[in-house]
Amino acid sequence: MDAKTLLAMGRTPAVQRATIHPFDRGEPGPFYYQRAAHPVGLEAERLLGELDGGDAVLFPSGMGAITSLVLALLTPGATVAVADGGYYGTHGLLAGELSRWGLKTITFDQTAPPPTADLVWLEPCSNPMLTFPDLDAAIETARANGARVAVDNTVLSPLLLRPLDHGADFVLHSASKILGGHHDAILGVVVCADEADAARLRQFRTASGIVAAPDPAWLLIRGLKTLAVRVPRQSAAALELARRLQRHPAVSIVRYPGLDNPVAAKYVDAFGPLLSFDVADADHAAHVERSLKLIENATSLGGVTSTLEARARWEPERVPPGLLRLSAGLEDIEDLWADLDRAL
Ligand code: PLP
Repeated sequence: MDAKTLLAMGRTPAVQRATIHPFDRGEPGPFYYQRAAHPVGLEAERLLGELDGGDAVLFPSGMGAITSLVLALLTPGATVAVADGGYYGTHGLLAGELSRWGLKTITFDQTAPPPTADLVWLEPCSNPMLTFPDLDAAIETARANGARVAVDNTVLSPLLLRPLDHGADFVLHSASKILGGHHDAILGVVVCADEADAARLRQFRTASGIVAAPDPAWLLIRGLKTLAVRVPRQSAAALELARRLQRHPAVSIVRYPGLDNPVAAKYVDAFGPLLSFDVADADHAAHVERSLKLIENATSLGGVTSTLEARARWEPERVPPGLLRLSAGLEDIEDLWADLDRAL
């Protein structure tokens, strides 16, 4: 079945909040205790696995998913090469928290070949610098050097890019973003090419208790039903806003892979909801944030409502002071533009 139809027609399981399930004639069945597995989570994993073409393991957040991947599937002292300009939380976790456990992290420009490492971490449409790797070449180089490859595909979603088809070992999504789509559930997922990796992740998940609850998993399943409608529309809105921002006198740089990026165009035919652009300085960025009426001045991305924020408040050492990150939602494009143009 085509993925889009699969999503729209997928079963919506009842939310069973019970943490225990009675044994069957004295034996535990497939569900017995919620930390091990629950019916809604299993259905979410079935859909996510079909979408990405692998074995999906659900976690209570994107960060929980990344933590679990590293702790369960790497060994102490391993080196992770992580794409520069990608999600700052990933770098912070790897180079900060997990360095205490012996993990080594190096950053690299993902538009160039990756360095030697145990795990190479790519992020197409990186958040917030919007760089795009030459995926096939990067994966080939990483593999030739003996590395495994994880791709954080949060921004594009499997509707636009399926990294496992390109030879990646793992796909990571913050499902809190475009997969859920409504800014009402925090979740993450690792989709594995190899079932043995997924089995190891499930074992680690039960042991560590880094487990998603049924309610957010149910919201994710509901959100997935409209993914095939939201992604193209949000991508079209982002492209149109990027083009108009390029012509705006108050804007110096617009970052969006849909703007004349032949490498990105080799892999995807739409470029997702996320873009970033620079105004003169931090004061102007703050003025734009406070002047918006329709676009929410809030963090996060991928939801049905558009969000914009100055990123320097979170990662001042990594981004220009006037950088604004915008995620296009489902509002009318002319309303969005009128709001942005007036605020600028
Ligand atoms: N990866 C990317 C690209 C993100 O943007 C985020 C969150 O902003 C994460 C991972 C972490 O996900 P979560 O907030 O669900 O823990």
